[in-house]
This record gives sequence, structure tokens and C-alpha cells, in this order.
Amino acid sequence: MTMCASCSGRGDTTCHSCGGRGTIQRLTSNGDMDISTCLVCGGKRRIRCQFCGGRGTVGPDMTAPMPPKRARPRAPDEDALEGRWAAAQGGGYYELVKDGSQYSVTEYGPMGETGSGRATRSGDVVTLHITNMLLGAFTLSLRLKGDALHGSLNVMGIPMPFVLTRE
Ligand SMILES: [Zn+2]
Ligand SMILES: [Zn+2]
Repeated sequence: MTMCASCSGRGDTTCHSCGGRGTIQRLTSNGDMDISTCLVCGGKRRIRCQFCGGRGTVGPDMTAPMPPKRARPRAPDEDALEGRWAAAQGGGYYELVKDGSQYSVTEYGPMGETGSGRATRSGDVVTLHITNMLLGAFTLSLRLKGDALHGSLNVMGIPMPFVLTRE
């Protein structure tokens, strides 16, 4: 988090409506000067900074609670693999669509589509054949456990755990 440049970290700024005077002066139709309390700041002359919402800092608020992850209800006749599978790391996901006895797979990263391929299932072993725009073609062997697919991915000869969870 960084200090808000709009209010210099104070959390409030000079009222833009009255220019920090706390009152609004206007000429009435009969030529009198009418002075009334500024409705925007209520005469306090300063208003809560719109940019940081009064926090005085900008950037991600680490104290904000994460929304709880809920298990998605599944229809009884739903395919065990068809749907969206989120990668445990990297923010990507795989979209599986049943296509005959196989599945067509589209791989997405945080910025969009990153690859595509096919998936086959034999019992609880799922094999993904993906052609990724950066990594090229690779094959992943995963074991289906309920709403998760567990396996490992070889990254420069080092096996890394690879887990996909159903969304
Ligand atoms: Zn601010
Ligand atoms: Zn004001």
C-alpha cells in the first residue's frame, strides 16, 4: 500500500463545493447576499477523500476478508469432468467440454486463452494433452478425486505438484 497522493495520506480533502470555506454565498433574486452552510461538507470545510475512501492509503487492502469458497452444487447427471477446472497456482483454468469419448480442453491464463488440447479418461486417471503457446505440447496424467484432479508437472526435469479443482 502507498500513501494516497490525492489527500497526502490525511484521508480528507478540501471541500470542492465551497472551496474549503464551509459556506456557500449566492446572490438572491432581490439582490441580497445569501450565505448558507455548504451542504456537501456540512460546514466542516473538508470532505472524505474520494480517491482512497478516507483511508489515506491506496492499493490492495490486505485486511479485507476473502470471500469464502463454496462448493458448487452439481446435477446428478453431470459429467465428472465437463466444466471448468481451476489451477491451484497461477490463476489459470481449464475448460473441458465432452466431445465423443474424449474431451476438448481449452487452457486459460489470467490474461486469456493460452492453449488447447484434448483430455481422455480411463477410470479415475485423466490424461491431458495440451499445446501451450509458451511451453509447447505437454501431457499431464492426473488422478480424479471427487472435485479435484491431482498430478505432477515436469518443470525442467523437476516434478511439481499440479492440482486442478472443479469450479
Ligand atoms: Zn486520499
Ligand atoms: Zn463544503
